[in-house]
Amino acid sequence: MTCYRKAHSAACGRCGRDLPVATRRTDGTPLCSSCLRHEADQMITCVLCDRVCPVGRRTTDGPLCGACYQPTLLTCSFCGKGPRRCYRAATGMPRCDTCSRTRRTCVGCGKNKYALARTEKGHLCGDCWRKDPASYNSCRLCGTVEYLHSYGRCHSCVRDQHVRDALSRDGAIPSDLQPVHDILVADGAKAGLKRLTRPSFQTILAALVDGTCPLTHEGLDGLLPNKSVAFFRAALVASDVLPSRDEQFAALEQWITSATKAVTDDSERKLVRRFATWHHLRRLRREAERHPLSPTQAATARAGIRAAIALLAWLREQGTELARCTQTHLDAWIDNGNTTRYNARGFIEWCRKNRHIGRGLAIPAFEKLSHVRPTDEDERWAITRRLMHDEDIAIEDRFAGLLVLLYAQHITAVSRLPITAVISEGLQTSLLLGTTPLLLPNPLDRLARKLLARRRGHTTIGTSSDSPWLFPGAFAGQPLSSYHLGTRLKRLGIYSRRGRTSALMGLSTQLPAAVLTELLGISPDTATAWTQSGGNWARYAAELHDRPHPSA
Ligand SMILES: [Zn+2]
Ligand SMILES: [Zn+2]
Ligand SMILES: [Zn+2]
Ligand SMILES: [Zn+2]
Ligand SMILES: [Zn+2]
Repeated sequence: MTCYRKAHSAACGRCGRDLPVATRRTDGTPLCSSCLRHEADQMITCVLCDRVCPVGRRTTDGPLCGACYQPTLLTCSFCGKGPRRCYRAATGMPRCDTCSRTRRTCVGCGKNKYALARTEKGHLCGDCWRKDPASYNSCRLCGTVEYLHSYGRCHSCVRDQHVRDALSRDGAIPSDLQPVHDILVADGAKAGLKRLTRPSFQTILAALVDGTCPLTHEGLDGLLPNKSVAFFRAALVASDVLPSRDEQFAALEQWITSATKAVTDDSERKLVRRFATWHHLRRLRREAERHPLSPTQAATARAGIRAAIALLAWLREQGTELARCTQTHLDAWIDNGNTTRYNARGFIEWCRKNRHIGRGLAIPAFEKLSHVRPTDEDERWAITRRLMHDEDIAIEDRFAGLLVLLYAQHITAVSRLPITAVISEGLQTSLLLGTTPLLLPNPLDRLARKLLARRRGHTTIGTSSDSPWLFPGAFAGQPLSSYHLGTRLKRLGIYSRRGRTSALMGLSTQLPAAVLTELLGISPDTATAWTQSGGNWARYAAELHDRPHPSA
């Protein structure tokens, strides 16, 4: 025995032999390298034979015991050479090293790819093989017949196992996390597995299990805000585990707390918090009672508060403070910065009303230079025509775009249309905008019915029933965001601007049927029906005119 080994040896706590120390237990007991593998925390449940024994090899699909992990010597089913080291022996189609690295023409898709299987027709690539019923097997745990995930287990059994592993505390799922378990296993198995591998998702589950994050809105607020948290929260709300709340509003409140923390001066921080609470939050809370806060409303409030904080810091830099601020200061503030400095206007107004600054001080309103390209009428007719006939565009985009162009609907209103807004009676389909149902002319009625039919096939995590929205978003129970819809429509050349453009539907009632046939590429009969649906449209237009202007 060399001196080094001698110096690092000790009596093993398990076998008692005097051997080099490979590791120590938490209490300091030395262990030799052969006993190390038999320690309780090193024992694994083999994913193939289910025995609890020392690990033979850890694979991406789980740990294997020594007996189950053995390189197999077989005749390669691809090239016929062998016996040689082959992979995938369990599939009955062993493949040697060389064949694993050789590209072949797939008989399924014709592409030159790595072959995963060989059938009597020829080689198949991974994508084509997974779709081929010949690759299906029944799950050894539940009997489902599909392209199995790993070690004879189907995707949903593996997903269930991963969920149990992620949520278990001391070998069992705590009863308060049972609803979380139920939500996670209700989802599609493949999507669920993908989600469980995301680090952001694992963080949430780990925090729930170790108790650092209670299963409440406030608990989730304490985590780093990201898409996984938003997704998880929406699923909990949709399953009634958490009460629903206005997320925009909650996010704004949190933002105010953290943004005002950055103000170093005590009295100034209190002033900004008072401004945020009394000027912005109070008004928004009142409005939120009627309809959920829009992202634009929240962004406007944030911009106002951010500008107030910046203005206070700037005044300090100038060697003065709010109470001693003059109009000269305010003019300099506006002249020596970008246009976001105008956002402090609301703060100055509020300060003036509450006597924090002298009378007569003000920041002028920002005069916006129009940079939006107005879509001219011909172009809007052309896009309308395309949306009516182009089958290559997604049906959601076609219908939403037509509502914007023909009925001058704002994108926010379109994105929040409930599924009940489409009323189908016999051969007629109408759309409820406001209180009057509008009879949809051909081909809009066809599109609406198609959209409804497609919507019935669509489900998201945590919802067993359908989403109540005509354009459902990625999060359970929520509509597609107006921002997302707007981006999609912009790609088609559609820009929605309140009060700027007239509804093409209104114009169409004033055009001769022959012109309409030309403009929209519809049959003369359909065109006649369009010009006659004017009565219905006129009633809606009048109602729209009487309605109080919605704020956004
Ligand atoms: Zn030992
Ligand atoms: Zn095994
Ligand atoms: Zn081979
Ligand atoms: Zn293929
Ligand atoms: Zn199964």
